[in-house]
Amino acid sequence: MHQLIIYGPPGVGKGTQAELIAAKLNLEHISTGAILRKAAEDGTELGIQAKEIMDRGNLVTDDIMNGIVKESLKKINKNGFILDGYPRTLVQAMALSEIFNELGFKDIKVINLIADENEIITRLLKRGRSDDNRETIANRFKVYLESTSPVKEYFSKQNIIMDINGVGDIEDINKVILESIK
Ligand code: AMP
Repeated sequence: MHQLIIYGPPGVGKGTQAELIAAKLNLEHISTGAILRKAAEDGTELGIQAKEIMDRGNLVTDDIMNGIVKESLKKINKNGFILDGYPRTLVQAMALSEIFNELGFKDIKVINLIADENEIITRLLKRGRSDDNRETIANRFKVYLESTSPVKEYFSKQNIIMDINGVGDIEDINKVILESIK
């Protein structure tokens, strides 16, 4: 069973790669951003609150995110899962470790996608999501540096993180990832 986390800065290609990996290996793609955007589209209370936070590039609370992920992980019935966009804080990373223990997931691998910030900003501006304007992008990078980068240290200490170059042809990058998680 594949137990994967895809990690990296906003716009590095986590969603694209996670989708490809999930399709090829028949995994559940758990994208917390996509779950929140769907909730916003559906107009649920969570969605309405989340939309405002997302449009500013800030983070939805850890408790809400941990709950969403726990429920999604309980329901896995494919060949495993790939978590995309979570954990984004150290508190989330520690909560996830507990969730993994509870559910018996012991073989976690973290794919760390790497790209230069200028390359990423160019990509994000092309994408055109409602949170892809210059001001929000700048804040998302700030939040990434301040709140999310400790997550990388947390995984590094557990020796489960693999660095992958995120610049280049999408299929080429995907091949490297698939090779590295074998
Ligand atoms: P993403 O699609 O991963 O770029 O996420 C888009 C936005 O959703 C983020 O900028 C946050 O506002 C929110 N979000 C997604 N995942 C999380 C998370 N794990 N913790 C807090 N907020 C999140």
